[in-house]
Amino acid sequence: MTTVWSDVVDQPDAVTAFRSAAEDARGIVAGRAPLGHMTHAWLITGPPGSGRSTAARAFAAALQCDAQPPGCGHCTGCRTALAGSHADVTLVATERVIISIAEVAGLVTEAQQAPSQGRWRVIVVEDADRMVEQTSNLLLKAIEEPPPRTVWLLCTPSAADVLPTIRSRCRHVNLRVPAVSEVADLIVRRDGVDRDTAMAAAAMAQSHIGLARHLATSEEARARRRRLITRPATVRSVSDAVIVADDLVTTAKDDAREANERRSAEEKTELLRMLGYTEATRMPAHVRSQVRALEQNQERRATRLQRDALDRTLIDLLSLYRDVYVTQTGAGVDLVNVDLVDLVHSLAEESTPQLTVFRLDAIAAARRRLAHNVTPLLVMEAMTIALRPQQGAERRGR
Ligand SMILES: [Zn+2]
Repeated sequence: MTTVWSDVVDQPDAVTAFRSAAEDARGIVAGRAPLGHMTHAWLITGPPGSGRSTAARAFAAALQCDAQPPGCGHCTGCRTALAGSHADVTLVATERVIISIAEVAGLVTEAQQAPSQGRWRVIVVEDADRMVEQTSNLLLKAIEEPPPRTVWLLCTPSAADVLPTIRSRCRHVNLRVPAVSEVADLIVRRDGVDRDTAMAAAAMAQSHIGLARHLATSEEARARRRRLITRPATVRSVSDAVIVADDLVTTAKDDAREANERRSAEEKTELLRMLGYTEATRMPAHVRSQVRALEQNQERRATRLQRDALDRTLIDLLSLYRDVYVTQTGAGVDLVNVDLVDLVHSLAEESTPQLTVFRLDAIAAARRRLAHNVTPLLVMEAMTIALRPQQGAERRGR
């Protein structure tokens, strides 16, 4: 039987914490219990793809559930909270670089209102790390003096991503990297994909749930990933390296641009709809300025998405040479790139563990340099040169 917890993949400790909090929250609503396991501010952390926002939504749903035990997944409270349409659940998901102070000010006002349907007002901030300090301080004030029925659920990659003053006000729930087989189970159940494909995708994505689902359901995404991570191994000359580096950068740019354009168009339509305008209408100045602000955010996001896409390619490349290393050393660990066994074996045979470590270092250095805003093309060129097969012979010959 599916409940709101079914999609919270492989997180038994977190689910236990949320379950007991939801039980105690019910006692509070009935006016007969102290806070107990419940509290007004939660910090949900975990690596990208571990399911932070899914966990937060599940908890929000359990708080609105009408059934016993809370979190049935089928009642109106659960269903509307999960779908994002519950009147007392606010979901703040941003793809933007930062959450604006105006946005948080709006949330703080909302947080002051009693829940309209009598249980809890829940505010889920999916990227609580994307705030400048001034904005964080405003949030802190709201968390310090919460109305009796308001709950904040803040999601970030790690606890270090929020101000210590906010952290100390929150109950901390940390999500772990889910097991590959558990991610595969979710994909089979949710996307109707066969188990072998789901297992391969979950392994390739290294348990990043969103990415695993994307790879499992798109042959094109799998092919693109395969092409990107196998190309550096085909490089022979320095001029090849330059061409391959350019391909890696261009593909990441194209992917990011495509994703950003699609999302930006939807957001603009949504904003205009909220303001009561259609594209064809002549817009007054205040609407134009809001549209301009949105567009500026979208441009800033484009840069971030590009960097994220390139970093993803580097993480995938790391996984390939990690597979080579575990093959060379007979570590007996499962391969990440189960679709590239032949390439892994040939790379393992034609190089040494020392050379593989050198290559892993070159990829890790590329990630660091990208994070420090070095020009992507330069970073990728240096890396592809280091990954050339004959680099091994040259190093051995020295
Ligand atoms: Zn329910």
